Amino acid sequence: MVLHFFFFFFMFAYKPKPTPKPLLCLPQQLSSLDQIKQSHAQIIVLGQTNNGKLMSHLLASLALSQSALALHYSLAIYRSFTHPSVFVTNNMIRCFAKSESPRQTITLYSLILRKIDAKPNNHTFTFVFQACCKALALFEGAQIHAHVVKLGFGCDVFIRNALINFYYGSCGLECSRRVFEENSHVRDLVTWNTMLACFVRDGQIGVAENMFDEMPERDVVSWSTMVMGYVQNGYLEEALDCFRAVTNTGLRLNEAILVSVLSVSAQLGLLDRGKLVHSLVYSMNFPITASLGTSLIDMYAKCGCIEESKLLFDSMRRKEVWTWNVMICGLAAHGLAKEALKLFEEFIDKGFAPASVTFVGVLSGCSRAGVVREGRHYFKLMRESYGIEPEMEHYGCMVDLLSRSGLVDEAIDLIENMKISPDPVLWATVLGACKLHGHIELGEKIGKKLIQLDPNHGGHYVQLSGVYAKARKWEEVVRVRRLMSERNTNKAVGWSLIEAQGKVHKFVAGDRDHERVAEIYKMLELITTLVAKTGYTPNISSVLHDIGEEEKETVIIEHSERLAIAYGLLVTGVGDCIRVVKNLRVCEDCHEVTKIISKVFEREIIVRDGSRFHHFKEGKCSCHDFW
Ligand code: ZN
Ligand code: ZN
Repeated sequence: MVLHFFFFFFMFAYKPKPTPKPLLCLPQQLSSLDQIKQSHAQIIVLGQTNNGKLMSHLLASLALSQSALALHYSLAIYRSFTHPSVFVTNNMIRCFAKSESPRQTITLYSLILRKIDAKPNNHTFTFVFQACCKALALFEGAQIHAHVVKLGFGCDVFIRNALINFYYGSCGLECSRRVFEENSHVRDLVTWNTMLACFVRDGQIGVAENMFDEMPERDVVSWSTMVMGYVQNGYLEEALDCFRAVTNTGLRLNEAILVSVLSVSAQLGLLDRGKLVHSLVYSMNFPITASLGTSLIDMYAKCGCIEESKLLFDSMRRKEVWTWNVMICGLAAHGLAKEALKLFEEFIDKGFAPASVTFVGVLSGCSRAGVVREGRHYFKLMRESYGIEPEMEHYGCMVDLLSRSGLVDEAIDLIENMKISPDPVLWATVLGACKLHGHIELGEKIGKKLIQLDPNHGGHYVQLSGVYAKARKWEEVVRVRRLMSERNTNKAVGWSLIEAQGKVHKFVAGDRDHERVAEIYKMLELITTLVAKTGYTPNISSVLHDIGEEEKETVIIEHSERLAIAYGLLVTGVGDCIRVVKNLRVCEDCHEVTKIISKVFEREIIVRDGSRFHHFKEGKCSCHDFW
């Protein structure tokens, strides 16, 4: 009754704008909840509420609706049937299956068996298994599986596909594999794709690869499952190869593939690859959804083109919280703190609720710009106004900000009063500041503490020796270095990437594996000569350098980014920008030399290191030597 009143009210109080397409003629199209309600109102006005066919189509539309409010509405309609058909009941089951109360599906299913004349059909089971998977109802699902066999649906391919999925979600890979292998003649493309997705989700990429090769046919879903699988399991280069292969098949790509490849481009800083995906999006007339748009913004930001990101962000009609977060973090990573904070304020004004990661963007922006007052304000705001407890990354930004600004005591105070146990990296940050600001005694104390906390981390020894070097305590420097080699500390492998001529080239320090190794080393010699002409002399002993932990044993001039830059100078055209991505922090000497290269060779060089961008141009770096 309430429902009816509502619709009469709706009809009279609200003149529908252009006449909505009535459900009467297009029952199963995907309609919004408002459209469905309008059609319902028409049914009421036309006195057709007893028309079982119309009402069941109304319910079918509700089963397809994305709205969370549809469930109660559907239930009210379902209850208006005295003898619901199997079609009607299946649609109600479907509503429950996708709702937040999937267990209700099982109740309704048992009701069909007990009371309703309608016997379940193959559609019933597909929805029921979806619900059992969501509700993790293994016991119930297995019983229903028995019904399937008893009622003679054991060879129905739709049901078997639903079973593979159900068993994977509730019982694990082995159970779903058994269903897959049990009946090899009842398989279609969806069966293969479902099993493939199970292997990928389980991290079994090798098995998935074999299966992919074995598949009798493949569609875009099969390909996107593989590309996503590679990305999610960290096989980024394989993901790119797979992407290249799918573009050659002539299949129309789907959003999942595009988003996955954009994420690889972002992670590895491969601008050319990212741009290629962007141009594909254009040429295919692909709609820029929130997810695709956000991935593009992220890719451009992480590849050093923040201007492109801004343009895309401004042109996006539908932005989600995630979109704003990516843009704020992107601006912050480029040192554009003012813009990041302005955007954050806009975000709040629009009524969005910031998440933990939003504040990582805001605080890292503050720390990179060295704005202490703002940093303190937002750190406080996060806890007091939004109830977000700071995590390690937030503390990391604050400690970095305070340390760099010389407020070492405040930074130490913050670490000592943390609610979670501090990551040694925080102390390492303070130690870096001690070196920068010449607090030798404090640095010595923290350095020793760090080595005690984490004796296998080579970086701490390097930092402590750096503090001693600054105080010109050479004997101490030698002692710490010796201690480090005695303990044989772990070495993270440092690498640098450069994308050129359609390929990704990866260099490690002292690399001699590249096909053009002779030319690269010749170029390095030329660089050394030209750099020396400007009057720059590198420190004689590499021991005195604050070299990244991975590369301490290699001569500085052969650090991975120098090899990448040398290669870049060889293969790119005059005036082209050289873009390098490095996994670890750039060392001081490489930073200095890259500045000089940018001037001598008249090239813009953009290096993305472990935490930030360095735009080298005309002998200067955008980080103002502060990183
Ligand atoms: Zn270096
Ligand atoms: Zn820099």
